[in-house]
Amino acid sequence: MIEMSINVTVLGIAQDGGRPQLGCKKSCCHEVKDEAYPAGIGIIDDNGNRHMVDASRTMVHQMEIWNQDMLDSLFITHAHLGHVDGLGLLGKEVLATNEVPLYVSSTMGDLIEKTPSWKFLVDEKNVVLNQFQEGDQIPIGGGCIVPFSAPHRSELSDMHGFIIRGENKSLLYLPDLDDWPSLLLGFELKEWLKSLRVDIALIDGTFWSGEELPHRNLEQIPHPFVEDTLQLLGVKQDGDPDIGFIHLNHTNPLYDQHSQEAKLVNENGWFIAQQGMTFLL
Ligand SMILES: [Zn+2]
Ligand SMILES: [Zn+2]
Ligand SMILES: [Zn+2]
Repeated sequence: MIEMSINVTVLGIAQDGGRPQLGCKKSCCHEVKDEAYPAGIGIIDDNGNRHMVDASRTMVHQMEIWNQDMLDSLFITHAHLGHVDGLGLLGKEVLATNEVPLYVSSTMGDLIEKTPSWKFLVDEKNVVLNQFQEGDQIPIGGGCIVPFSAPHRSELSDMHGFIIRGENKSLLYLPDLDDWPSLLLGFELKEWLKSLRVDIALIDGTFWSGEELPHRNLEQIPHPFVEDTLQLLGVKQDGDPDIGFIHLNHTNPLYDQHSQEAKLVNENGWFIAQQGMTFLL
């Protein structure tokens, strides 16, 4: 018998706007050869069922990366643009899914009920709403998916990251976060991940530093800066989880593998998520 395991594929590594980003005239978005799609992962479980986390408008390209053409369930982290702007693709105009379970928090579920174009997907039975609570163990073949709440500006909905647990390993997906202290509540980042038995973590790498968007007030779009997260992580030690950065803003120097910043991430033993990267759990 062939031993199966849960397979997780990175389907997008960009912040919600993608890269190139609309309206950007700077070098970061000029003649970009490899488009970066909004953050998302695809999970194939032991039974061959296909679960997607976050629904981007670029789903057609993400499915290509994933080598799939349909999904069996969908999980949503929160209501910001790049995480939900592909929801409509499940409707009759495109995929025409049939009763695909849609896993959302209760505030995200309320928003779906209140948003006519999303409510329509429920009424037409393209999706079936499943509201989760933090800590629920949502079963998938050979493991489960566990939502956890994370502080992130909540104008529209709250925010949940997910831990995908397989028979051998667990992967944490946390594309958006306001700041580490409000999440960790006194824990050190690596200790927190270890306490959750996480082996691989894909974490918010939106901005390298506060200097990326000189014309925007970053207090209105808070994220932990990668350069600060690196300080928290230090150098990777034996027994530390594998930690990668995802959800990169178009301005982030980590897009350039040869940048000083990318070298620093790698030299410290961490990684920058790449589209198509896979993890066996
Ligand atoms: Zn986002
Ligand atoms: Zn740009
Ligand atoms: Zn967000």
